[in-house]
This record gives sequence, structure tokens and C-alpha cells, in this order.
Amino acid sequence: MKKSSYNNNCVFCQIAAKQLPAKIVFEDEDLFAFYDIKPKADIHVLIIPKKHIATLASLESSDAGLMGKLLYRVRLLAKDLGITEGFKLVLNNGLKAGQLVPHLHFHILAGSNYTDISKI
Ligand code: AMP
Ligand code: ZN
Repeated sequence: MKKSSYNNNCVFCQIAAKQLPAKIVFEDEDLFAFYDIKPKADIHVLIIPKKHIATLASLESSDAGLMGKLLYRVRLLAKDLGITEGFKLVLNNGLKAGQLVPHLHFHILAGSNYTDISKI
């Protein structure tokens, strides 16, 4: 990963760089997936690009391949996590939409106990 894509003040950049602990689910050159620290469903995993992209609204056309790769990885992870009964994929875009961590991430939520989706 290029140094320029790392943001020193970003919690998820620090997690992806293993400077902060996380329960890792998956990692490759471009992507990182880990369990949410405050799960809002039986299974609650976050998947991020390692590159610091603040929000979906700040995506550039050159990120399209990365995002396609991320979505395909969600499909593989759901299988690896043993999710057979469906799952939600939630992306809060911007503070007003509930995005508290400004590093693009999808929530993968599965199981029988879902928190109200507006509170994720
Ligand atoms: P959002 O509100 O969409 O920005 O979601 C941020 C999510 O990150 C929340 O569900 C938090 O529980 C989760 N979170 C924050 N800090 C950590 C951390 N250090 N490790 C794992 N999950 C975290
Ligand atoms: Zn970041």
C-alpha cells in the first residue's frame, strides 16, 4: 500500500496497519475486514479498502476496480463466515447519515438479532 493513502489520524487506517488491535477476518493487499467492536447483529463485520478513502462521496473513477473487488470479497466472506440465511450490507455515507468513522466501510450484518438499521 502506498504511504500517501494512509491517514495518521484515522482509526481504520491504524487498524489496517495493525497499529491498533482488531479481530481480523480477512486481509489482502487492498482490503481489510474485521469484527465490529460493538456488534449490532449476531455477525457484524466491517470491510474497508486499506487506502484511506473518507466516504463513498469522495470516490474517484480510479477507485472503481477496488470497489468491485471489495464487493466480490463480501460475497466470499459471507460464505466463509457461514452466512446462509442472507445478510445486510450497510454503508453510511457522511456524518449526517451516521458515518462516525470517516474511512469508507461497509457493515456486513447477519443473524437473527439486527439492531434497527437506522442506528447502525
Ligand atoms: P459508522 O457509524 O458507519 O461510521 O460505523 C463505525 C463502526 O465502527 C461502528 O459500528 C463502531 O462500532 C465501529 N468501530 C469503531 N471503532 C472500532 C474499532 N476500534 N474496532 C472495531 N470496530 C470499531
Ligand atoms: Zn483511514
